[in-house]
Amino acid sequence: MTVEILCVGTELLLGNVVNTNAAYLAQKCADLGLSCYYQGVVGDNRERLTEAVKLAMSRSDILILSGGLGPTEDDLTKETVASLMGRELMMDEGSRQKIASYFEERGIEATENNWKQALIPEGALILENHNGTAPGMIVKNLDTHVVLLPGPPAELIPMFEESVAPYLSGLQPGVIFSRTVKLCGVPESRVETQIKDLIDAQSNPTIATYAKTGEVHIRVTANAESEKEAKKLIKPVVKELKTRFGYDIYSTEEEVSLEQAVVDLLLANKLTVTCAESCTGGMLSARLINIPGVSEVYKCGYVTYSNKAKRRILGVKKGTLDKYGAVSSQTAGEMAKGAASQAKADVAMAVTGLAGPDGGTEEKPVGLVYIACSVKGKVTVMEFHFQGNREKIRESATTAALMLMRRCMLEYFSKVTFGEQ
Ligand code: ATP
Repeated sequence: MTVEILCVGTELLLGNVVNTNAAYLAQKCADLGLSCYYQGVVGDNRERLTEAVKLAMSRSDILILSGGLGPTEDDLTKETVASLMGRELMMDEGSRQKIASYFEERGIEATENNWKQALIPEGALILENHNGTAPGMIVKNLDTHVVLLPGPPAELIPMFEESVAPYLSGLQPGVIFSRTVKLCGVPESRVETQIKDLIDAQSNPTIATYAKTGEVHIRVTANAESEKEAKKLIKPVVKELKTRFGYDIYSTEEEVSLEQAVVDLLLANKLTVTCAESCTGGMLSARLINIPGVSEVYKCGYVTYSNKAKRRILGVKKGTLDKYGAVSSQTAGEMAKGAASQAKADVAMAVTGLAGPDGGTEEKPVGLVYIACSVKGKVTVMEFHFQGNREKIRESATTAALMLMRRCMLEYFSKVTFGEQ
């Protein structure tokens, strides 16, 4: 089936709000096996919205609209859809009650226009909103399913997960099931080359690669009569990927992030950890601390930005800084050793680099980052050259540090050897 996504809001057209709903909805629809051929953005204008909805309904099986369900005059989505389909808007008592209790609980008085949100096109299926006042809805017109969702992502996402995804998957014959194989430390071009034969031969399941910062995800998707059948089709492909990429795969679970995989390794090996960061300024610690249960292993972190701090807090030698500079393999190594001994931690990470935009030289360009990892006193240092702006370089360095930490722990404990980057 085909799906079209139409996001409503003048603020989107002006670039004041980034259209994250479109990206979210497109990804979810792809996961459900729906083909999305068109996406659009239209302002809060009745004529243009009418035109866009009419066109979408004429060429797609499913139309998903986001935004414009609010209480104000310029919120026109359901009025436009109802009028195009020739349906009346009716007051839905259940939705009206929910809006009343929403305001009561918060001790705020509802204004007259709030009740407008309880008006529903005749015959629509109502989707409950547990995070706001505007209910979502699905209206079926001949063969087209029109889904109306509230604009705020904090309302749209849970509503999609709870109500829309099950509805849409019910429209499809069979089930779509996918598994994501997640790799770190291997560039996307290398991944694609290594699985070119599989991609060329794919039909069911399909194989697609997605590059993330410092990671590559391979999604294997099967279409079958049941989830069991789909899993059966996916299994040998995932097995083959595991054979080809081995320990470069950090997870095959959708919900496991790289930092989760790293924390799992720390927990499984009962290793405590510390981080000494210069250019990443705490981003590495922040990603680790995002994982529940990390308190068992995370000791403390140091943001040692100045040379003085690197010397005073981590004991980096003045001679090292003078001779090699703050951004050097030697300094990174001493930072890791110093952090390990200060924190009395089994694993210590250190990051030092040039995030730019200024400060680069021919010898040490912007993007040059050294990352060190000490596991029980065994220190490994790697040199990286990242591209992009300051934010991107810092993000890439953080992901690379997680990748190196995982690698060093595996090498130390499982006697695994990794090839070059
Ligand atoms: P409300 O009940 O809050 O009025 P609504 O359905 O009328 O919801 P809009 O008024 O269109 O939604 O948008 C409300 C806010 O939701 C916007 O100001 C914006 O912050 C966010 N938003 C709307 N559309 C998108 C989008 N496509 N992507 C990301 N955020 C969005």
